Amino acid sequence: MVKVDKNATHDADSQAAVGAQSGEGARKTCRCGHDRDHYMVTVDKEYSAGGWFTVLFGISTVPSKVKLRCTLCGEVLEELTDPAALKKHIR
Ligand SMILES: [Zn+2]
Repeated sequence: MVKVDKNATHDADSQAAVGAQSGEGARKTCRCGHDRDHYMVTVDKEYSAGGWFTVLFGISTVPSKVKLRCTLCGEVLEELTDPAALKKHIR
């Protein structure tokens, strides 16, 4: 089933390289140079009105928006509104 030839393998390699480069470019830092993985960068979760309701009652819910914010300078590095990304922040 799987046909391997040199050209196909080469194409896959160059696509992967392009993807890695764009991912690196999307990585943001605040004015202190902290990125999203730094321990000074906290996650602010925002819930929709309905979301808050479920939070109050201790039901796990997906935030409507997540902000990655530096606690030193207060700069927001990133705002996540993508449902797939938000699911990682379910409390
Ligand atoms: Zn900062």
